[in-house]
Amino acid sequence: MKTDRKKTPAMGKATRAIHAGAAEHSAYGEISVPIFQSSTFVFPNAADGAARFAGEQPGYIYTRIGNPTVHALEENLATLEGGVAGIATATGMAAVGTVFIALLGQGDHVVAGNCIYGPSRVMLEKEMSRFGVRSTFIDSSDAANIEKALRPETRMIFVESPMNPSMAITDLGAAGEIAARHKVLLVVDNTFASPYLQRPLELGAHIVINSLTKFINGHSDVVGGMIVSGSGQTHTRLKKVVTTFGGTMDPHQAWLILRGVRTLPLRIERAQENAMKLARFLKSHSKVTWVRYPGLPDHPQHEIAKKQMDGFGTMMSFGVKNGLEGGITVMNHVRLIKLAVSLGGVESLIEHPASMTHASIPKEERREAGILDELVRFSVGCEDFEDLRDDLDRALKEIGRRKPPFRPPSEEEHLAMEGC
Ligand SMILES: *Cc1c(COP(=O)(O)O)cnc(C)c1O
Repeated sequence: MKTDRKKTPAMGKATRAIHAGAAEHSAYGEISVPIFQSSTFVFPNAADGAARFAGEQPGYIYTRIGNPTVHALEENLATLEGGVAGIATATGMAAVGTVFIALLGQGDHVVAGNCIYGPSRVMLEKEMSRFGVRSTFIDSSDAANIEKALRPETRMIFVESPMNPSMAITDLGAAGEIAARHKVLLVVDNTFASPYLQRPLELGAHIVINSLTKFINGHSDVVGGMIVSGSGQTHTRLKKVVTTFGGTMDPHQAWLILRGVRTLPLRIERAQENAMKLARFLKSHSKVTWVRYPGLPDHPQHEIAKKQMDGFGTMMSFGVKNGLEGGITVMNHVRLIKLAVSLGGVESLIEHPASMTHASIPKEERREAGILDELVRFSVGCEDFEDLRDDLDRALKEIGRRKPPFRPPSEEEHLAMEGC
């Protein structure tokens, strides 16, 4: 069986999602990439073994270093993002951690968005700081803030777009231009958009991270992460560190995610059609005070979203009447839409940061970070629009009817899953 996989030539996005990383057929002609459930690989002889270790001959050695099923997924994502190569990791956070550990060192400085994924912020603030890496957190929705925060020792800019849960947009082209001018690495966490809607490498990023747990797998049943590099040199460095660090992906996990990514275009197209209709419906609802969706013309960075994204995605946030109480009421009365964190699955999920993910953060700090009491985060799925609309409508109408039962968590018992 051949283990070298041909790169799929540049084709449309949907074609790439379906075909990129597909294996050469074995003698059996299978259409699905087999699960190579093997920890180690046999060398034909000592000389071949030595040549593989020296990197002079293709072929697999050991699954932490490389595995054909995992490699198929890496090829798929590298092709979708338009990078040179991908590195699959056990989770999205393993991807973030690998990038920080591999590319930052004593004395380096990072400029990061103040609304990046909570654990990514914790990683910089609490862990990388122990190794002498300092970070400045800025509102990246104004690219000028990135440039202002740069220091002579700044090595990396780390941003997301759209941001969570504010749905603010970072101008990735402007960030790329700043990174190039100051010779600083630009790393973009592309999880909220996915490469189907946004390809940061084309806009000047050097590295793109995706939590495959979200849109790429799309079925809320597997976790995983991916790092795609724009240059071979960066990829080689990251590959060396992830192999040593050990946060690599399992072949069965890779196979499941390969199955998920095949329908990424269909899922996103369907869900974002729902999202646009729901955003308009919510805007006209008497219990809704505001809606933040990049596809609405009143979104502050609507024009930037239009420029850098192929569609406006499936994530939105909105405000409800009666603040904290109103948010809790909606959480308790949706039936079809599930009350859960995470996003990007075929099923719609709803979350209320002020009472859940961000409840232990003092109210004033929450407000400063844009986590308003009334803010509801909504990951729109692929259900029928009418059913989602009716479910939301019924839950929203409960606002103000009676006081919802609620006991806020104490700081000690709270698991800060999502910082800001
Ligand atoms: C979920 C998420 C991550 C982390 O991914 P895991 O697979 O949960 O480790 C990182 N960044 C963003 C933006 C996310 O939404």
